[in-house]
Amino acid sequence: MATKYVYFFGNGDADGDESMRAELGGKGANLAQMAKKPLSLPVPPGFTITTDVCQEFYKLGRKYPAGLAKEVDVYLAKLEAAMGKKLGDEKDPLLVSVRSGAAISMPGMMDTILNLGLNDKAVLGLAAKTGNERFAWDAYRRFIQMYGDVAMGVDHDKFEAIIDEVKAIRGIKDDPELNVDELKLIVEKYKKMYKKEKGEDFPQDAKVQMWGAIGAVFGSWMNPRAIKYRKLNNIKEGALKGTAVSVMAMVFGNKGNTSGTGVCFSRDPSTGENVFMGEYLMNAQGEDVVAGIRTPQKLSQLEKENPKVYDQLCKIRARLEKHYHDMQDMEFTVEEGKLYMLQCRNGKRTGAAAVKMAVDMVAEKLITKEQALLRVEPEQLNQLLLPQLDKEAVKKATEIAAGLNASPGAGCGQIVFTADEAEAWAKEGKKVLLVRKETSPDDIAGMAVAQGILTSTGGRTSHAAVVARGMGTPCVCGCADVTFKDANTIVVKGKSYKKGDFLTIDGATGKVYEGQVAVKPATISGDLETFLGWADEVRAKSSRTTASGQKVKGFDVFANGDTPKNAEDAFRFGAKGIGLCRTEHMFFDEPKLTAFQKMIVSEDTEARKANLAKILPYQQKDFYEIIKAMKGYPVTIRLLDPPLNEFIQAESKDQLKALAEKLDIKPAVLAAKVAALDEHNPMLGHRGCRLAITYPEIYEMQVEAIARATAKLDKEGVAHEVQIMIPNVVSYREVEQIRGQAEAVIANVNKECGTNLKFAIGSMVEFPRTALIADKVAQFADFFSFGTNDLSQTTFGFSRDDYGKFIESYLDQRILEDDPFATLDPDGPGALMEIAEAKGRSVKKNLHLGICGEHGGDPASIALCYKLGLNYVSCSPFRVPLARLAGAQAVIKAKK
Ligand code: PEP
Ligand code: MG
Repeated sequence: MATKYVYFFGNGDADGDESMRAELGGKGANLAQMAKKPLSLPVPPGFTITTDVCQEFYKLGRKYPAGLAKEVDVYLAKLEAAMGKKLGDEKDPLLVSVRSGAAISMPGMMDTILNLGLNDKAVLGLAAKTGNERFAWDAYRRFIQMYGDVAMGVDHDKFEAIIDEVKAIRGIKDDPELNVDELKLIVEKYKKMYKKEKGEDFPQDAKVQMWGAIGAVFGSWMNPRAIKYRKLNNIKEGALKGTAVSVMAMVFGNKGNTSGTGVCFSRDPSTGENVFMGEYLMNAQGEDVVAGIRTPQKLSQLEKENPKVYDQLCKIRARLEKHYHDMQDMEFTVEEGKLYMLQCRNGKRTGAAAVKMAVDMVAEKLITKEQALLRVEPEQLNQLLLPQLDKEAVKKATEIAAGLNASPGAGCGQIVFTADEAEAWAKEGKKVLLVRKETSPDDIAGMAVAQGILTSTGGRTSHAAVVARGMGTPCVCGCADVTFKDANTIVVKGKSYKKGDFLTIDGATGKVYEGQVAVKPATISGDLETFLGWADEVRAKSSRTTASGQKVKGFDVFANGDTPKNAEDAFRFGAKGIGLCRTEHMFFDEPKLTAFQKMIVSEDTEARKANLAKILPYQQKDFYEIIKAMKGYPVTIRLLDPPLNEFIQAESKDQLKALAEKLDIKPAVLAAKVAALDEHNPMLGHRGCRLAITYPEIYEMQVEAIARATAKLDKEGVAHEVQIMIPNVVSYREVEQIRGQAEAVIANVNKECGTNLKFAIGSMVEFPRTALIADKVAQFADFFSFGTNDLSQTTFGFSRDDYGKFIESYLDQRILEDDPFATLDPDGPGALMEIAEAKGRSVKKNLHLGICGEHGGDPASIALCYKLGLNYVSCSPFRVPLARLAGAQAVIKAKK
């Protein structure tokens, strides 16, 4: 059977349904589902051309597959029959909209054309048939503008200039005041301008118009903003077949005061509350609401203005939620008092709303806990951990204006007025607040780098609001008190603010403050606590068999932390241990730095030991506090890792002199030391356990500090579980030797303190060789921790400090799909980890495995770690909630 390219919907029936999202796109699939039984909602009839056609279109060099035109003819005839009207008919024309829609919604990124089918004759027919001449001419001028701009690439501003010119001649302020004659004049001028621009008349044949629009929509799949959107949202090229195109009978919200159009949400997308909310405009078409040109009315007003339609909409809200088991974002049009549904989809929401809805829907028995856990994108949790305005600071702050609370969080930065400026300033390291009249899809790159977004027009469903919520960026929109004076100045209630001045917005309340208002960190409580508790349960109960046949139970989340403050944050965010405590970070502040530097420049072992003895109490105190903060959860302390030259930097003569003075040695001696420490490639040089092979006293001091800190806690009756980790291992002999030295130190401390402390001593796996000899290393190691930063560096042979120079080109040209330092590569380091797991556990069946590279906080990498049979992932404290959820999602998805 030949491939079916076109699917019908409408009149209580449809060929497709919601299971066909991949082919019909989200919009097409949901239109079909809404139209057919049992929902049978009032959907204007239409047909959807599949995403397969889009795929073919690009494969064939922007040509359609054979047979498509014929199939479209058949479905157009069906649509015409359903409507009792014909496309291009001069007396009673059928008008259609041509809409885009991929399987994953990409709001506002691709093209849509409305009012298609009008020409010089059909406009007269439409006027006569509807008895509404103004409506007909307004529709025609809108169509020429949209078709000209979207399908034919005529500059949008050229159309706007004509409207402004006519308005100026007639002394008119707003578009709705334009009368029939003025609209006719605009149409005349539009057509003339179009001919000048395109060298041909505006197309009068409705079929030509339709194919032009279909081509434009398919073409918009590859427009720069859609490509950028997919990149920003991590939608891989090839993951989707493209966009579908839905051709749908027009219904009109601009037919006068009993008509209107709106967007609504079945729950509040900002807070997640179970309230019906939305916005609409009377006597308008859809694009007027979304573009944020006029500030719309709240849905609650519709209840007063048209209770019948409102009631019907409420019933549809309930039915759609029950059907989709999720919050719905719906578009509707009221044509002369009759309600039509134009779209429904699972609504985008803030992180806070996503968690609240998920928890509420479980209580309402609409979804299961596992479904709830899959409802929230791990990255969205970052928004819940966004700093909030400090309540005390707010009391003292100067509130200058208020708009709509469109996306939560506190955003503070230097104001800029274009997306390009936002990008440029952010590149210089500045924190910016993007202030715009309204935003458009062209602004997304600037929006992505802004601390917050403030707009003067537009509602909660405007582009700015929707995109900001998706990005988790604080946003206040529709703030009418903000006016734009010139390219460098805004005025708020009479006071000017220049580009670069600081403003602060509170996306949760909609308030705008002068200057920089202090912010404070968030906590985990309420719904978030409940939700993450479910995630912990799922991970705790999990079990899988690895490729090597080992059965592994549970999947924990630890944190990387080097200070007592880090440990407290980690504990507060629910970490079940510290997977990496980098001891070198403890030496970066005084007086520890000086003591450490003196140790480095020591002339001989005796002097080095004497200096190390001075450092010991500092280390011991740090360890004591970190272990205590973790209340008995494991703390993995890594012995010194980086090259020593990182601590002795003296680039100029003056710096050298000052440092020599501080360390109480001669500049010439220091210069010789600096020269001796210099390495061509310090990352692969004298670092990690190689330092302990040449200077065993360094690790001995560290182990003694660990043992003494633990002994103190032990005597105080404080719970502790401490593990000692050796970095940069490449040979089992390193572990054997360092382990022996450490055990001797521990035995001494036990003897002296009368304790019986035992420490697990483990090895990091950071180089291919270590993974390949993991069975030998495991004989001397109690655990492994994968240092995937170095493991990725040495597997790829990319310097982790320098790869920034070329990685963008690799990603843009799709040589690599992901940045290997952000997402663990399953074929390189991932494959080595699989070998290490199998070899390590072949020696020690229950060998504990973890990851402490940056990948431990990346959802895709977490899923790979689960699959590989790791017992835990360890990430930075602020990513712990995300990892708790991502780990649970990995467990649930692995079961499917
Ligand atoms: C690693 O290499 O992954 C690691 C955790 O060690 P560091 O980043 O400190 O080199
Ligand atoms: Mg490392």
